[in-house]
Parts: sequence; C-alpha cells; structure tokens
Amino acid sequence: MRLHDKHGRAITDLRVSITDRCNYKCVYCRTGNEGALYSELPFSDYLRLVRIFVQLGIEKVRLTGGEPLLRNGLVDFVRDLAKLRTLDNQPLDLAVTTNGHLLSELVQPLKEAGLRRATVSMDAVDAEKFARITRVPNGYESVLAGIRAAKRAGLEPVKVNCVLLRGFNEDQIVEFARFSREESVVVRFIEFMPLEEDRVWSPHVVVTMDEILEKLNQFRPVRQLPNTPSETARRYTFDDGKGEIGIIAPVSHPFCGHCSRVRLTSDGKVRTCLFSLLDHDLAGRMYRGASDAELSDYVCSVVDQKEARHHIGEPGFVKPSRSMVHIGG
Ligand code: SF4
Repeated sequence: MRLHDKHGRAITDLRVSITDRCNYKCVYCRTGNEGALYSELPFSDYLRLVRIFVQLGIEKVRLTGGEPLLRNGLVDFVRDLAKLRTLDNQPLDLAVTTNGHLLSELVQPLKEAGLRRATVSMDAVDAEKFARITRVPNGYESVLAGIRAAKRAGLEPVKVNCVLLRGFNEDQIVEFARFSREESVVVRFIEFMPLEEDRVWSPHVVVTMDEILEKLNQFRPVRQLPNTPSETARRYTFDDGKGEIGIIAPVSHPFCGHCSRVRLTSDGKVRTCLFSLLDHDLAGRMYRGASDAELSDYVCSVVDQKEARHHIGEPGFVKPSRSMVHIGG
C-alpha cells in the first residue's frame, strides 16, 4: 500500500518538525511574542511514527522546526532514521532545514549519522540586514560558516532558502545571485506566504517570481533548468552555466497539483497541507494504545482527505490554524 490522496497524488515526502523552539526571531515568521507553544515527543516516538509512514511509501524525510538543531539527541535520531529502508529497499533521502546558526558544529556528525542534504534559511548576504531580519545579533558569520561546513562535509547540493519581503530584502536578489556563483550553492527565493504569527501578510509585500526573474535577467541572462513535477522550485542558471537559482512561488505560481508532501508537527499531529485548518492527532492515538496497523490505517484515511490546494488571496481564504514556526517548513 502506497500513500495517495483522493486527487491521485502520490505522497512520498514527510516533513517532521521536532521542535517549535527557535533561536532566531525572523520578522516574517515570529512577529508576535509567542515562544514555543507545542510539546516535543521523545525521538523514539517520532521514529515509530516515521517508520509507519515509510511502510506506506514515504521516501524522503525532512527534519524541520522551529530550529531542529536545538534538539539534543538529533544525531542519534538521524542515525536511527538512516537504518530505515523504503518500500524499494533503498535508504531514505534524509534532509534537514535549519537556520544554520549551529550547523558548523553539528554538520560532520550529522553527515556521518546518515544525513544527505541540508537546506539553510538565510534572508540576506549582508550582516547588518541579516541582523535586522533575524533580530539576533552576529548571526551572519555563524550561518555562513555553517553553509561552508555543509559543503565541506559533502551534503550536496547545499541549498539556501531566502524569503523575500518587499521593503526588507528585495535588494538582495542580485547579491544572492553572486553568492550562488561564488559559494557554489543553490539559492532559492521563496514568495512570502501568509503563515506568520502576527498576521502582517498582504499581497503587496510579496515579491513575485516575475519580479525576481526580471531582476536576475538585469544581472545576467537566465535560462531555465529541468525539474521534476513535485519539486517546489523552478530552477534556473545563468547564460554561462555558473550558479543555480530556484524560485518557489506558491502565491503567484502555485504548485499544489503535484504536491507530494505531508507533515508531522512537533507534538505528533499530521497536517496534510501547510494551509490546513485541521490537525490530525496521530500521537494521541499512539499514546492511547493504538497498534501500528491502526495508526497506519489512520494515516491512510487522513492523507486521503488531503486538500487539493491552497486558496491564498482568494475571497474567503482562511489563515491556517498554525503559523509556520509551529508547523515546520
Ligand atoms: S499549499 Fe498545500 S497542497 Fe499546496 S503545495 Fe503546499 S502543502 Fe501542498
């Protein structure tokens, strides 16, 4: 049995948030004064739940947060996950999304434990602007060191995700293009989604894919690269083939039709879409004594009801019940 939803989409990617704590306070994410709101499960319980998903066809597991590198025991957890095999008897494609602040210390043990890829969230290649966005002093150098350490450790391709906000960092587009070429990392620009804590989102703040491409083409001619249907980013390089840019445009160019993702929150709830209005309490059933077979049936029934798409910007759009930091990217 492989997981599919009622729209016929194969669900092969699981994102697991292991904490909603974070050591940064990025202006487009944690705008309010909320700290961590949800509990964290012991790693042995996440492992049991992930194993159930893998037995249903999950092939990629991405660890997220909050900031996942804040959790003690992460390296051992990655080692345990790396022992799992997909239905095709392949190792899982294990990845992490991190703000990179603690990465340079942890990247080698994580790699040795079985981690394959790392995505670092970084919204400016200018230390001062970086501090203004993250509201944490002196983070820039740590993150840059983390990115370079991930490359040295061989977690290729190292991806750098930049959320663009009009009035904050749209002047970083060309700087990031240079960064991609100089550091040989994949830079992905992400359109700002209404998933922040304090409801500051409006369509006017969104820097769209078309604007990003226009700016990049002013720097150097870009050409599109092929990508797989379920990939969230449209991929580009420059006329000389140096550097790679991705654009994740959920607002202006939604990609829900090929969505292959579901999420497990830090407190063990299944979310079938970033913009779900519902949490499905998988951990609660586990703690009430459900067997693996019963949990597996529950996952299938929940995923079957996965939303077709988001409705950002449409009349009647309702913001999701959780903000991004409490869901996991
Ligand atoms: S908005 Fe929901 S359905 Fe669309 S790509 Fe994101 S998670 Fe998938």
